[in-house]
Amino acid sequence: MAKPAETPSLSMREQGLEHRIRARISQEGPLRLDEYMSMCLYDPGAGYYARRQPLGAEGDFITAPEVSQVFGELIGLWAASVWLQMGSPRKVMLIELGPGRGSLAADALRAAKALPAFANAINLHLVEISAPLRALQARALQAFHPVRWHKRLETVPDGPAIIIGNEFLDALPIRQIVWRESGWRERCVGMGAEGRFVFTTAAPAVLSREDRGILPTQPIEGMLRELRPGIRPLLTELARRAGNAPLAALFVDYGYTRGEAGDTFQAVSRHRYGDPLQHPGEQDLTAHVDFAAFLGAAKAAGLSAWGPMPQGQFLLRLGLETRCRQLMRNAEALQQNTIMSGVRRLIDPRHMGELFKAVAVTSAELDAPPPFADQPA
Ligand code: SAH
Repeated sequence: MAKPAETPSLSMREQGLEHRIRARISQEGPLRLDEYMSMCLYDPGAGYYARRQPLGAEGDFITAPEVSQVFGELIGLWAASVWLQMGSPRKVMLIELGPGRGSLAADALRAAKALPAFANAINLHLVEISAPLRALQARALQAFHPVRWHKRLETVPDGPAIIIGNEFLDALPIRQIVWRESGWRERCVGMGAEGRFVFTTAAPAVLSREDRGILPTQPIEGMLRELRPGIRPLLTELARRAGNAPLAALFVDYGYTRGEAGDTFQAVSRHRYGDPLQHPGEQDLTAHVDFAAFLGAAKAAGLSAWGPMPQGQFLLRLGLETRCRQLMRNAEALQQNTIMSGVRRLIDPRHMGELFKAVAVTSAELDAPPPFADQPA
């Protein structure tokens, strides 16, 4: 039987990436995990973000803004109150990092209309590397708000900025290091029997002073720690902007609050966990966020840092119950069920309520952003 036309070209592209990773390992030796992840996610032709539409029921995974509109709406109200704290600048940039399908931004902009002066002040900038996702963002947003896209935060103009990143940090590549025989060793991707990719931990890890600062002082044999090299440049850029104009950035992600989590490197495809060393470019690769490391690095960069606060608590404090009651009043019975199950999923500790956490970083002159007043980092 003839195969569908798509299949051969897809598998050739996949083979192409696998082949290139193999060739690089043969030439340079085992690859650091962040290098392997970067190739799998960001390869311009065959990387995951170049090809896949990751989100939603028909994609690979689902995120809070896709679970319930209330998530983006409350973040829109959060942004409005931060804008007031900034002294209501005439123009403010609303910057979203990794906006997915554009749902969060659409819900936030709709909610922002409750404060028309804020809604009118917004210039929307989206930082997105995935072409398929940019197309979806255009569809979700362009009809009711002008959008400018960027591949990197560095090209967004300077000025007062409110920045949102939901499930953005977990996508930044990680390194893993293992304490073995009195030294930190780099966990790499090498080649085993029949050219299969395998983990190796032979090479001594090259660590900066900052890296060493977040590592345990008395490691034990076999202990594994994760480092995320993209965090420091991101925070340096946020701090640079915060030095020029008021800035508040909110990140929501899954992760841990102390650096003890061990191996969290994961592959997800079609709502199932997979082997991260198989099918390069075909699966989403992520790892949990080390919030202690993130907030420590934010303070070291000169930013004020807030949280981490469990997502459930964060949303309840922002007024989730009130917004939910409003929605329920206007909904039919069937819709009411959908609204309630979505909202429960966001705040229930057994779902997203605890594992997901919110953190904020702000320019030093700003007051605590809501609802973090009692939770400086
Ligand atoms: N915020 C969305 C999507 C989360 S998935 C939501 O909550 O539904 C991660 C998003 O970050 C995707 O849009 C992905 O394409 C984008 N992304 C990942 N790495 C990126 C990078 N280095 N630069 C810009 N965007 C990136």
